[in-house]
Amino acid sequence: MMDTSKDESGKINDNKPSYSEEYVKSLSGRLEKAVRFQTISHEDPAQFKEEEFKGFQNFLEKAFPKVHATMAKEILGNYSLLYTWKGVGEKELPILLAAHIDVVPAETQSGGNWIYPPFQGHIADGFIWGRGTMDDKVSVLGILEALEKLLHEGYVPNRTIYIAFGHDEEVGGRDGAAKIAALLNSRRVILDYVLDEGSTIIRGVIPNVSKSVALVGIAEKESLNIELTVDIEGGHSMMPPRQTTVGIMSSAINKLEQNQFPTRMEVPVRKMFETLAPEMPFGMRVVFSNLWLFEGLVKKKLATTPSTNALVRTTTAPTIFQAGVKENILAPRARAIVNYRLLPGDTTDKVLLHVRKTINDPRVMIVALEGPKSEPSFLSDTGSKGYRAIEKAILQVFPEVIVAPGLVIGATDSRHYSPLTQNIFRFLPICVCSDDLQRFHGTDERISTQNYTDVVKFYTQLIRNEGSIQNLPSE
Ligand SMILES: [Zn+2]
Repeated sequence: MMDTSKDESGKINDNKPSYSEEYVKSLSGRLEKAVRFQTISHEDPAQFKEEEFKGFQNFLEKAFPKVHATMAKEILGNYSLLYTWKGVGEKELPILLAAHIDVVPAETQSGGNWIYPPFQGHIADGFIWGRGTMDDKVSVLGILEALEKLLHEGYVPNRTIYIAFGHDEEVGGRDGAAKIAALLNSRRVILDYVLDEGSTIIRGVIPNVSKSVALVGIAEKESLNIELTVDIEGGHSMMPPRQTTVGIMSSAINKLEQNQFPTRMEVPVRKMFETLAPEMPFGMRVVFSNLWLFEGLVKKKLATTPSTNALVRTTTAPTIFQAGVKENILAPRARAIVNYRLLPGDTTDKVLLHVRKTINDPRVMIVALEGPKSEPSFLSDTGSKGYRAIEKAILQVFPEVIVAPGLVIGATDSRHYSPLTQNIFRFLPICVCSDDLQRFHGTDERISTQNYTDVVKFYTQLIRNEGSIQNLPSE
């Protein structure tokens, strides 16, 4: 393994395929412009800005003329896009590359604590700054750049490639990815694999591993919201009962936090550590190579940090707590939402049972809101051609990283495609150091121009590896 230098941005050494300075500049410029469209998904649909989404569509048409002249484009749910690049071979099943157009809001449109305003689009200090540069316009633009480049080279893929950009991933994907999946399903499309966002290249996040690790998610945790309500007759606060709605709800939440789900090591996490063990210092290598013996110890250690705790537990997060309208009136109703993130294998019923048993108070109404159906998300095959193709493209662009399978702790649009394929992989090659983790959905979201160039190279390489009638040599 060659010695490589990395700067504190997490940017990785020079790569094999090299792009001209001018081209790199134009790549960054287009991502910078993409940030300026406020394609925000709000919990409140009234805040949705149609013109921003339409504007973004027009921008894509202008920025990627070859893609739009060559590929069939279908619009679903008004703003989601499905492109079809027809392959010339009939033998292999098509693949689907997914990303999402929408972003989460910034605390204020002008930016609050941001160094550069979140929707201004700004290139400075070697970075492209703004909402969407990590999640997930980076991927939308990165994929389109790769396609545009390959089309310029006259490349024609052997198999059909679908490109699916949802517009409501941040609020569940029901109008976007779900509709795209339903359309493909109605056409009886079966996909070899789906590649979506999810995991990244991380450094300094996994204990005892100093090298950068490209994690390819082979499963994801599902999100489940449990609603708790307490309804009791209100009244004046000068004659309070022994326990109020506020007190009952506080006690219920407290019990849930005190009685977390037990830790458990599921297959994707186990596989991750098995892959990474040889990279660890001797003592740790012994521990992580012998999980049959040391699993308890490892789980205990992982549970001490929130980012690794989420890998070994169905997590409990009270996110909404509402009660009361006036300082001298007893609140007649208290309501709370607890967001659970389920390990593969856990189900809505299992969580409900746990919540009921733990709270054990008939005054608290417990209801599961939207959540996964009873079957847990499946595991994608690390021995499949798809996994190997992704691994190959990663190593071509980032030769010094270790590629390992992993568990995605957030939910992605990719789950909507599960009826169409056996294999969903979740990976976006952005380099994330531990202090970058809070930039996701947080302030000062950014990507280095070098890293963004590598994102484009990765998608280009992945598609190129599929082979073409022209059989062009790799760059
Ligand atoms: Zn995302």
